[in-house]
Amino acid sequence: MTTRYRVEYALKTHRRDQFIEWIKGLLAVPFVLYSQPHGSFDRQNQSSLAQTREEAHRRYSEILRDVEAMIDDHIAHQNDTENPFPSKLKLLVPSIGPFFTRLPLEAAFKFQDRKRYISSRRFVSPSFNDVRLILNSAQMMAVTTYGTLQLATFDGDVTLYDDGQSLEPTSPIIPRLIDLLRKNVKIGIVTAAGYTTADKYYARLHGLLDTLANTAELTPSQKQSLIIMGGEANYLFEFSPSSPHLLSPVSRHKWLTPEMAAWDERDITQLLDVAEAALCDCIKTLNLPATLMRKDRAVGIIPQPPETRIPRESLEETVLVVQKILELSAVGRHKRVPFCAFNGGRDVFVDIGDKSWGVTVCQRWFGTSAPGGAIKGDNTLHVGDQFLSAGANDFRARSVGTTAWIASPGETVELLDELAELMEKKMS
Ligand code: IMP
Ligand code: MG
Repeated sequence: MTTRYRVEYALKTHRRDQFIEWIKGLLAVPFVLYSQPHGSFDRQNQSSLAQTREEAHRRYSEILRDVEAMIDDHIAHQNDTENPFPSKLKLLVPSIGPFFTRLPLEAAFKFQDRKRYISSRRFVSPSFNDVRLILNSAQMMAVTTYGTLQLATFDGDVTLYDDGQSLEPTSPIIPRLIDLLRKNVKIGIVTAAGYTTADKYYARLHGLLDTLANTAELTPSQKQSLIIMGGEANYLFEFSPSSPHLLSPVSRHKWLTPEMAAWDERDITQLLDVAEAALCDCIKTLNLPATLMRKDRAVGIIPQPPETRIPRESLEETVLVVQKILELSAVGRHKRVPFCAFNGGRDVFVDIGDKSWGVTVCQRWFGTSAPGGAIKGDNTLHVGDQFLSAGANDFRARSVGTTAWIASPGETVELLDELAELMEKKMS
């Protein structure tokens, strides 16, 4: 179960959850008008309860079918560059982004309703989490039915393992990732965790890497279909069975996109200097039990002593302050180097680049070298947990591929099972 509590912001521009809130609002209408809370204490007979459930199911389905049609219309607008008018969806939800696939929301609702008994509830209306999971299911259906999934990228912390932990050999996620590779889907682990050496990534991912080295289920080329993109978009490692930590670093000139290659080292240093000064100010102003950590492509604050928890409000405040200062700084104003400031749950980091670049590198790495040969957004799925809080580093991947928003490693397991079932259905 996800706990979600709100922090009110002075600046709301970064809120990413408006689409979900909007759908939740639409579903609240039939809930309020037709749900029958008295049914639970006036001994309504079973058949009338079933009737109520069917009625709720029918109404929720209808609403989601209408939203599905609105997304289709939005996609038509998005693909018609001649049309200057915004879609109806854009007018209703101005923060809406691009869609890489249509979304079968009605079918996804029916699937989730079977799992979560949404229509059977009379006191609790369709929730944010219900809608988030419906959208995830719709996206799984879309990437398997309308096209073929070629690349799956995964965030690390909270997505593959609990925050700050590592992927242990017993993790139920491992056999599911191996299964994806067996189905010839490429995998990129696109994590903010930025280390320059393979041993550090091995420490976080050893369960997966050891299994990959030892399994007879995969061909050598399927084993080569796993890469690690660390520090958002800064360090690339490929699987290498003969290397001591089963990973070998790939030098930047082999994978930087032309845009990334143009990022000037002086701008990078300047940006990190500004971020460092802003973070130090926040440590002072908010009296944070934290210490600064500077790396070659990132700067952050981590709790000090390490077991302390910095209050979430302080982390969010720090992100928003640092982000604003960077945006207004000389180097930030000219947008020569993209950056990502985010709340990592226990810490705050500012990284050079962001996950949209990290996923783009994966799309190019596994694509063909011909122009336009990179794996396309509609054949890509990024799974992550950071779509809401300040900075939300996984949200950036939304601009280059389809995404699924999970809230725990357990949800990643469920999502991968859903995906596997859909892929098998398609193959049979
Ligand atoms: P992710 O969830 O896999 O994107 O990892 C994010 C977490 O990685 C952060 O919350 C930090 O705890 C940790 N981390 C370690 N090094 C870095 C870094 O250089 N940049 C950002 N995050 C880092
Ligand atoms: Mg994460």
